[in-house]
Amino acid sequence: MTNRQLFLQHVATTSDFPIALEIERAEGIYMYDPSGKPYLDLVSGVSVSNLGHGHPKVKQAIKDQVDKYMHLMVYGEFIETPQVQLAKLLSDNLPESLNSVYFVNSGSEANEGALKLAKRYTGRSEIIHFTRAYHGSTHGALSVLCDEEMKNSFRPLLPDVRMIEFGNQGDLEQITEKTACVILEPIQSEGGMIIPSKEYIQALRARCTEKGALLIFDEVQMGFGRTGKLFAFEHFNVVPDILCLAKAMGGGMPVGAFISDKKILDSFKTNPMLGHITTFGGHPVCCAAAKASLEVLLEENIVDDVQRKGELFVELLKDHPLVKGFRQLGLFIAVIVESKEIMLEIMKEAHELGVVMDAFLFCDDAYRIAPPLNITDEEIHHASNLLIQAMDKVNK
Ligand code: PMP
Repeated sequence: MTNRQLFLQHVATTSDFPIALEIERAEGIYMYDPSGKPYLDLVSGVSVSNLGHGHPKVKQAIKDQVDKYMHLMVYGEFIETPQVQLAKLLSDNLPESLNSVYFVNSGSEANEGALKLAKRYTGRSEIIHFTRAYHGSTHGALSVLCDEEMKNSFRPLLPDVRMIEFGNQGDLEQITEKTACVILEPIQSEGGMIIPSKEYIQALRARCTEKGALLIFDEVQMGFGRTGKLFAFEHFNVVPDILCLAKAMGGGMPVGAFISDKKILDSFKTNPMLGHITTFGGHPVCCAAAKASLEVLLEENIVDDVQRKGELFVELLKDHPLVKGFRQLGLFIAVIVESKEIMLEIMKEAHELGVVMDAFLFCDDAYRIAPPLNITDEEIHHASNLLIQAMDKVNK
């Protein structure tokens, strides 16, 4: 079996993407196949490479940390400098109640940890989640997936899990004194970029507070500037009890975190032991990369320009006859087209023209534009021209 066939099998587990590209190297906003053909990256590894590929400051931080050490035993015996520095930088840029950081390896594990923490802290078992939600692929994260059919072959999953409709204020009544936590992305990514109203998210926050249920925001995909704020919850003037991060956090390296107030996270320390432990979670090389990545984002004021850049894409694409509308906030854009077939055809033509964008897991009639946040205006014009050419080919 060739490498390409193996890769296709891997992709087939998560999407019906029309072509699988083999990428040999990547730099900035471009990825290159083994023949040297460039592809403009409008996906950023699903909101991972928010600073583009191979940012020099991130690479240098990785090299420097490799020279210092790569792993220590961290079940409480040592505290690693890169973790201390990253935790401080994160909490300096978060509301005061998000002051305690637990580092993990991935988005799924961040959500796993958060669900466990909520159960431990509240002593309750019920978990509430939402329609059109994706939170990861481990058993706990799968339990709060929206799609019942996708879950079927993995049952039994977590008991005492209840799904309510995203955006429906009436459904919030289902959050009660029995609820340990409510988990959601304040802005839904895989649902096709669903932006709820401020009133809705504020009502959700108030209901959780009233009932003593913890509010968990999964910002694995929307965190670190994607929506034009450092964190998506800033759009709603609310603060979650637990914030889950990963993807862009590591600047391309695998690291995640769940973050809460000390009094909540401390419940993992009390008996019985084993609140959550992980061998590689918060790996020092990944934390060094994460710190450098967040520093670049902040020092270069990259987030400030993200909404304008998103609007530029919309402006350049809006008059194409295949475009039926947009759901956009910052550089996360769902371009709405008439059907799944058209969306897949556009993606295929775009690949051939050397531009890569993506589909959504739970929204068939839109494609996703989510490029590195430091994309230039010139690159946005170039990418939009290529997308227009691809759509022209499908439209003829
Ligand atoms: N939550 C959200 C919103 C995600 O988009 C993803 C990954 N697509 C995850 C959780 C899971 O993250 P990971 O793949 O790092 O486990």
